[in-house]
Amino acid sequence: MRSQAWEWAEGAGLTPTQGEILVLLMQRKGPMRLGEIARETALTAATTSDAVSTLETKGLVEKRRALDDGRALAVRLTARGRTAAKRAAQWPDFLAKAVGTLRDDEQTVFYRTLLKTVHQLEAQGTIPPHRMCLSCTHFEPSKNPKKTPHYCALLDLKLSDTDVRLDCSVHETADVATQKKTWKIYAQ
Ligand code: SF4
Repeated sequence: MRSQAWEWAEGAGLTPTQGEILVLLMQRKGPMRLGEIARETALTAATTSDAVSTLETKGLVEKRRALDDGRALAVRLTARGRTAAKRAAQWPDFLAKAVGTLRDDEQTVFYRTLLKTVHQLEAQGTIPPHRMCLSCTHFEPSKNPKKTPHYCALLDLKLSDTDVRLDCSVHETADVATQKKTWKIYAQ
């Protein structure tokens, strides 16, 4: 997870540290104090503060008073930051750069085709199984993702077609019948 966040962040004009902080905030699903971020990322307080300030300038995070202590500041993702964090968590640099040049509808078609191809290669035994949403017990596929997104019950995340993960660190393999049902809905 960390190396993917680093690779993507460099491609997106962020430092690896900034990318890592975005992913951490997304995984925590709530505001974090600077001290907590420093502790979890093993960064110094000064480095954490600088990185968060830069992310704030870029509009990817915002600082608010902590609910449990009005004197302390808590950092949380903005909507743009959440989108960037999702990308940082899942897309290798070379893929993010290439796909980023496509239109939204082209990205969706590309990503669905990619996932289907990976699935086919896995079924043939050409490549080992990936930890992707479509084989995960927590994934709830949508019959019409343009209207209603897919859903990850573990992370409480709505997932558009391009958010579906190819390699997720908290993936748990679903039983065969569930995987078949998921693919039937996804591939229709
Ligand atoms: S746990 Fe990971 S692989 Fe499973 S549905 Fe959620 S995001 Fe996808």
